[in-house]
Amino acid sequence: MTAIASLIPATLIPGDGIGPEITDAVVRILDAAGAPFAWDVQEGGMAAIGKVGDPLPAPLLESIRRTRLALKGPLTTPVGGGFRSVNVRLREEFKLYANVRPARTLIPGGRYDDIDLVLIRENLEGLYVGFEHYIPIDGDPQAAAISSGVNTRAGSRRIAEFAFDYAVKNGRKKVTIVHKANVLKALTGIFLDAAKDVAKRYEGKVAADERIVDACAMQLVLNPWQFDMIVTTNLFGDILSDEIAGLVGGLGMAPGANIGESAAIFEAVHGSAPDIAGKGIANPLALLLAGCMMLDHVGRNDIAGRIRKAVDLTLCEDLVRTGDLGGKATTGELADAIIRRLR
Ligand code: NAD
Repeated sequence: MTAIASLIPATLIPGDGIGPEITDAVVRILDAAGAPFAWDVQEGGMAAIGKVGDPLPAPLLESIRRTRLALKGPLTTPVGGGFRSVNVRLREEFKLYANVRPARTLIPGGRYDDIDLVLIRENLEGLYVGFEHYIPIDGDPQAAAISSGVNTRAGSRRIAEFAFDYAVKNGRKKVTIVHKANVLKALTGIFLDAAKDVAKRYEGKVAADERIVDACAMQLVLNPWQFDMIVTTNLFGDILSDEIAGLVGGLGMAPGANIGESAAIFEAVHGSAPDIAGKGIANPLALLLAGCMMLDHVGRNDIAGRIRKAVDLTLCEDLVRTGDLGGKATTGELADAIIRRLR
């Protein structure tokens, strides 16, 4: 009775392609570790389009509204056909203003060892607000393209506070504020000013410095160890978060979280991998690490830490790895090996 009462309701979206296979493996591992989630499984993506004509059907959205917490497998956005990106729709629907992208070396011996970085990206403002139009000139209807970016002081302050709070809660030492205020003086100057104001309030607890985005991109390649956390605006965050994933071997094992005031959605950064769907060979680790972020989010860092440790041992001591990591294990065999390490 007590055990059931203490379960945390959470929406589970297996998604498309390899989604159901990796979700099944991840749920088995989370259960074996004692994760306290009561799953409400919801259909989204292509299957939902076939049934109700919408990749994000109403029951899925209602479930997230109720649980405010979701673990999401990859969803295919059909090309053409007038469907907006499901990820953008979810971001807007639940005002998911913070995108959190950690990158940690899981398998030593790659290009860079001992990487442990977290990038926090503003998710709703900047150049991604989509205020775009063309201007016709001399009979060419699309002679000039105009795009306006919008950064607000409130939105900049909110993402900076999120980053510094995250640093305190997760024992991080330094936040680097990344901008282009030397050229985009208004658009990214407002972000820099607001973030520096927030940084002052954390003096003595979390160190802060700043970098211009192009210099930051180069420094990430030359000496990534100088960074601990990065906070930046939407477009720069989009680019730098993939660069950071590249430091630890690409998107295949990258988890991400989209966090807002009314919900938090955790996901693997990779897509539905239609080329290997149904073969049972997909790597479930990105979604599993997203599950660990979800455990951190609900205050169960203890369980998340045990799972991360079991993953490290499985990959580096037992040498059980899926094909994308140079091994031969199936999705299920990798899950079984991690579960053995949890016991
Ligand atoms: P993808 O990430 O699905 O695949 C790129 C390559 O990486 C493929 O060769 C694939 O086999 C491999 N790969 C990806 N995940 C893997 C895993 N877990 N284990 C082993 N190999 C893996 O990217 P794509 O092919 O450009 O996109 C396919 C579909 O996914 C598209 O419809 C796209 O819209 C969608 N997508 C969804 C999300 C999301 O829901 N978060 C993100 C990206 C793409």
